[in-house]
Amino acid sequence: MTTILDGKKVSQIYRESFKEEIENYLSRGFRRPSLAVVLVGNDPASQVYVINKRKACQKVGINSLYYHLGENISEQELLGLIKELNQNPEVDGILVQLPLPKQINTRKVIETIRPDKDVDGFHPENMGKLVANVEGGFIPCTPLGIKLLFDHYGINIQGKDVTVVGAGYIVGKPLSVLLLNMNATVTVCHIYTKDLKKHTLNADILISATGVPHLIKEDMVKEGAIVVDVGISKLDGKIVGDVDFEKVKEKASYITPVPGGVGPMTVTALLLNTIKAYKMHLNI
Ligand code: NAD
Repeated sequence: MTTILDGKKVSQIYRESFKEEIENYLSRGFRRPSLAVVLVGNDPASQVYVINKRKACQKVGINSLYYHLGENISEQELLGLIKELNQNPEVDGILVQLPLPKQINTRKVIETIRPDKDVDGFHPENMGKLVANVEGGFIPCTPLGIKLLFDHYGINIQGKDVTVVGAGYIVGKPLSVLLLNMNATVTVCHIYTKDLKKHTLNADILISATGVPHLIKEDMVKEGAIVVDVGISKLDGKIVGDVDFEKVKEKASYITPVPGGVGPMTVTALLLNTIKAYKMHLNI
């Protein structure tokens, strides 16, 4: 029997507890947590992500401030806004939706966000804390969301052979480090990996984050493996993941669907990071 790792349902459970936690702080006289969301330009996918994140904030009681800037804004203007938000004591978290238009240096933007407000966890200081495995930093939302999903289903990582396919800065790389911190034996594959199948077949837990539709076929998956699909692509007008879900699910013990798996968990982790920033700022 295959269990579907239902990110939508699990998110609701986590978010209900976040809502209660925030209500408790409000009843004790504290202000609301707040997240500043910055969108540059009109990329339709980014617009959908931003709407979802803001709705999720609203539902749990996080104040969301929204800054929608034009496609042609200069880097200077964007950095100016971030510096303002850095200084605003009412702002706990700052999220700049990626990707950014070409004229803007994304790295510079990430490094301008104050690390204690960097709820996406992309600032090198937070990445460094993840590598050092020390408390007090922010773990990027998708890796953290996957951990929350495993926690909910009681999936134990320690000692497992985990293969992560994709080594991007926002998912694969920090996820690999997080899993290593949880005592997994981690193999990281990428576009230059010689024999992908050899590594995926060895995995007790297989996580794919490439954005290549249906890269992971059933013959690449070990019987009984846990399969997590981070990828989001469009194929024939439909949203699909990296995993050939219908066939692979016959072999997997647990599997995430796309949509409804990792996506909602990523937003849930963003809420968790924002509440963490809020508590750090108010010392509660
Ligand atoms: P990225 O471009 O930064 O990284 C992609 C990685 O995949 C690279 O390491 C690359 O080497 C590897 N790769 C590409 N083709 C490959 C192949 N044929 N075989 C093996 N490795 C290959 O991308 P990213 O930002 O990490 O995003 C990856 C995917 O995850 C995208 O589809 C993105 O939309 C999705 N994503 C989903 C969520 C979510 O919440 N579900 C969050 C973030 C990103």
